[in-house]
Amino acid sequence: MPTTKDRRPTTRIGYGFDSHEFQPGIPLKIGGVTLKHDKGLGGHSDGDVLLHAITDALLGAIAAPDIGALFPPSDPKWKGAESVIFLREALKRVRDAGYAIANVDASLVLAAPKIGPHSAAIRTRVAEFLGIRCDCVGLKAKTPEGLNLDNTALAHVVVLLEIVKVQTKPPRKK
Ligand code: MG
Repeated sequence: MPTTKDRRPTTRIGYGFDSHEFQPGIPLKIGGVTLKHDKGLGGHSDGDVLLHAITDALLGAIAAPDIGALFPPSDPKWKGAESVIFLREALKRVRDAGYAIANVDASLVLAAPKIGPHSAAIRTRVAEFLGIRCDCVGLKAKTPEGLNLDNTALAHVVVLLEIVKVQTKPPRKK
């Protein structure tokens, strides 16, 4: 009999956090959606704070190395890279570990622009990327009240994974 220690957990939770500074003259990408704004998020890649936090939440759930270890900012290969590349690698690792995503919940913290009018588009895009239903992607947006971070965007993400049952024995004949 396998002990609890040997058994793979049926669910795993992951948490990811990221922050990027607003900079003029670059496009603003959040959750793979380009939003109209006078500033974008700086960073070595495209600065998509939400996709970075989702990527780290997925990697954390399976105790894999984090986004910075897998895609070091010191590597010129990732300069201006689309963040969905990082997300795809995390998804592959989750699948290889034998898990599927149950749901994702995210909170964005930023002074502007307002996320409400873009929430459906962002949730739809993220759901497409993750291969899950749109109603399994939660998205809230808050302003950084009292944080003195009006030129920064923060993202907090929690993800729940569930084990993919593999059939080890052929079905019994009746
Ligand atoms: Mg980042």
